[in-house]
Amino acid sequence: MDKPNDEKKELIPDTCICGRGRLQPGITEYVTKVEDSVLVIKNVPALICDLCGESYLMPDASREIDKMVRDFREGRLLARPIAAGEVDLRVKETA
Ligand SMILES: [Zn+2]
Repeated sequence: MDKPNDEKKELIPDTCICGRGRLQPGITEYVTKVEDSVLVIKNVPALICDLCGESYLMPDASREIDKMVRDFREGRLLARPIAAGEVDLRVKETA
């Protein structure tokens, strides 16, 4: 952190954790659980690995997401309801 004037680019990795893929700019969906609801944020700009598909959010997007999650938690964000399912890997329930 001795170059504070550097562009925030340094926050973005240029190689994927898989070590072999290349990161390409793209659009992803960010899914998070907020209390008992699942919030899906679409059209999130990210760098996506062309090999394993891992995505890395842009710093700006991450800040916007934090704000959206906060608004959602506080009931200030109107989200379109979608169906969601939750399972426990260790508890297999079958119909
Ligand atoms: Zn990868």
